[in-house]
Amino acid sequence: MESLFADQDFLEKNSGNNFADIILPVPIPRMFTYRIPKNFQSEIQIGQRVIVQFGKKKILTGIIGKVHNKPPQAYEAKPILDILDVQPSVNPLQIRFWVWMAEYYFCHIGEVMFAALPSGLRLSSESKIQANPNFDLESSPYPLDTREELILEALENQNELSYEDCEKILGVKTIHPILKSLVAKEAILIFEKVQEKYTPKVETRIRLVPAIAKDKNALQAVFEAVQGKPKQESILLKYLRDIPVFNKPHLNEKGLDKATLLEEGDSESSLKTLIKNGVFESFKLVVNRIEEEEPEREASALSSTQQAALEEIKTHFETKQSVLLHGVTGSGKTEIYIKLIQEVLESGSQVLLLLPEIALTTQIVSRLKQVFGSQMGVYHSKYSDNERVEVWNGVLSGRFTFVVGVRSSIFLPFDSLGLVIIDEEHEPSYKQFDPAPRFHARDAAIMLAYFHQARTLLGSATPSFETYFNATQGKYGYVQISHRFGEASMPEYHLANLSADRKKNLLKLDSTRLLREKIQNALENQQQIIIFQNRRGYSPYVQCEDCGWAAECVQCDVSLTYHQFAEELRCHYCGYKEKVPQTCPACGSSQLSTQGMGTERIEESLSLLFPEARMGRMDLDTTRNKYGYQRLLDEFAAGQIDILVGTQMITKGLDFGKVTVVGIWDGDRILNFPDFRAGERAYQQITQVAGRAGRRDIKGQVIIQTRNPENDLFEKVIRGDYFEFFRQEMFDRKKFFYPPFVKLVKITTRHTDFKVAEKAAHALHHQMANLPVKKIVLGPEKGIIARIKNQYQFESLIKLDKAGNTQSVFKEGLSKILEELQSVPEFRSVRWIVDVDPN
Ligand code: ADP
Ligand code: ZN
Ligand code: ZN
Repeated sequence: MESLFADQDFLEKNSGNNFADIILPVPIPRMFTYRIPKNFQSEIQIGQRVIVQFGKKKILTGIIGKVHNKPPQAYEAKPILDILDVQPSVNPLQIRFWVWMAEYYFCHIGEVMFAALPSGLRLSSESKIQANPNFDLESSPYPLDTREELILEALENQNELSYEDCEKILGVKTIHPILKSLVAKEAILIFEKVQEKYTPKVETRIRLVPAIAKDKNALQAVFEAVQGKPKQESILLKYLRDIPVFNKPHLNEKGLDKATLLEEGDSESSLKTLIKNGVFESFKLVVNRIEEEEPEREASALSSTQQAALEEIKTHFETKQSVLLHGVTGSGKTEIYIKLIQEVLESGSQVLLLLPEIALTTQIVSRLKQVFGSQMGVYHSKYSDNERVEVWNGVLSGRFTFVVGVRSSIFLPFDSLGLVIIDEEHEPSYKQFDPAPRFHARDAAIMLAYFHQARTLLGSATPSFETYFNATQGKYGYVQISHRFGEASMPEYHLANLSADRKKNLLKLDSTRLLREKIQNALENQQQIIIFQNRRGYSPYVQCEDCGWAAECVQCDVSLTYHQFAEELRCHYCGYKEKVPQTCPACGSSQLSTQGMGTERIEESLSLLFPEARMGRMDLDTTRNKYGYQRLLDEFAAGQIDILVGTQMITKGLDFGKVTVVGIWDGDRILNFPDFRAGERAYQQITQVAGRAGRRDIKGQVIIQTRNPENDLFEKVIRGDYFEFFRQEMFDRKKFFYPPFVKLVKITTRHTDFKVAEKAAHALHHQMANLPVKKIVLGPEKGIIARIKNQYQFESLIKLDKAGNTQSVFKEGLSKILEELQSVPEFRSVRWIVDVDPN
């Protein structure tokens, strides 16, 4: 596929080519050939967005991938309907990156395009309704009912309505029968309206009439005219104070918004008079949703350790594309990034800093904004479509030369990246599970950097074993910082043994005494506490004490979690909810009990135990809206929360000086990660959450509660000997053929019928076994959760030899196998999900 994209294709403008291959956001493994109408031929460029008709009805936004002169063989090419961009929205490097991603992660280029473009850059087509101009109520043989009349009335005032408008007018969701009847009575017409989703933000502003702003004499004359009219004079003076047009006439262009111009006491009618008299004018200005900010501070001076690390990184970059910065939590990696970013920006290249979703909070963004100001763009998943488009366009126009963002920011239209930093590179959330492309943002970013001939810096206190392995092999440069910045020392660990106790109320147990004492002590000293439990809701199980019945999801093979606040049982896999039953549905007993501790229950219990402490809880339930994290973190930073209970989202990147105690509520849960990465993940999770404690002068205390204190994994983690731990784990991974010694591909087979799913999974297994590549195929086995949303799942795991062309031969073979299987009638509705490098 690569050869389709020979570089000169991208760089030459089209001259006289009649056809274009267009990437469309559909899951079909190819591009689609369209005819370029004569009048577009001189404008067309690779990477432009175009509108085309797809199939009989659909109107889609596509991207020009290639232009040529070969008509398609099997069908007559439809014409391109319109070109949306003067300048391409997507550059040739991006298209190369998409092609690579589709091939590597075994998906279709249209799926990559769909993930890459903010939906605001795609067109939407929406059904609208219009009044039929030929309709005459008087002479119509069909009587209208009241609801139909309401719609017609609304159409008299507006020339078109959307389905949503109609729903609002009628106050019901099922408007289709009503509209259908109106169409039948020839009262309305339904049509498809295609429009851009992105809408610029427009403000009404006031400015001096340009002729006056440019001419001092004219301005003088205006002052003479308003003399004796204090209200008008005050407005004029106010304007000139904010916008000194004498020295800076260009400032007049953007003017002021009315609220800023009119202070208390100023009268709106005086402003109107000034406008009427031709002094001011009112106009519409397209403004940025993302505010401009000037840098507020210089970067911190680096300590000698940091400086040495920076020099080492740069030396490695002379010979290596990628460098791993392995610095303990609190070692000041961010400050090193800042210096490096400044240097690269000064050299005229762009920089991308990737952060895991949850770490991308105010704290780090504001630290960076203070230094980089408005040349820095932020790309967040909580941004609206419109905001995303503005970041995209800001990168295209050069407004943003540096972007801090989550995994999808690798798709932004960079054209000259010099440096990509992947902070917390070990973070599992860099991997996208669903939908395709199931990419790992770290690995994809390294590839992206390679296309740009840019450098990659991977930062972590607990490097992924893949990355560290690459460093030991000399593939990546390696730089280590083993001490925290300043006076801070590493925290102290304690294991609290829960196994002796049989009582249910964990807070009354002897074994939780240690945690309680540490909390008490911290509270007395006005310090803060973080309690980590990776389970949201009140309690993960509801059970009947008499017959053992347990609440389970009707669509998935998992237990339902009790959410006390909402008084509901909820499935964390599919979102299914139900009311809490009063009595056992199996035996009628009223002895239903909640088992296990979720964050909600821990918060409740701790607030009973420490009534004076101010509690906060950070989990998916408390952070659903855009400012959820931010608000909680601001409160915690301001000292308005003493104890913060949370799921893994509190473990990442937070830097709060007053946190001295970290409690890991259920250490055993961390050990039970269901695959070969269990040890690595436990190491990372415990070290990271512990890393929030004692980041300044007071030593941190970390309490891990467990029923298995003798498990040697704890001991290894606590000892913090990453290298020894790595060595032991690598020994096992090599012996049992796991990454980084092999490539993994996981294939999930899904179907609503257990038997069909099982049969399809076995058919796939047998076919794969015959592929002529060096490999081990495991499975198919029932998924860890055998059924999700009524789909039964079977998983096969393929271990591929890393050498030579094994992977491409395998993927090619797999495509053929899946194509064949899908054409078997009984497997037609089976879904196969291929995950390359699964987490
Ligand atoms: P890491 O990212 O390695 O966990 P941070 O960059 O968050 O560490 O640094 C830990 C703390 O030390 C932060 O509060 C940071 O502001 C401070 N710090 C780090 N380096 C410097 C420096 N050179 N000058 C002043 N403060 C620093
Ligand atoms: Zn029962
Ligand atoms: Zn469910």
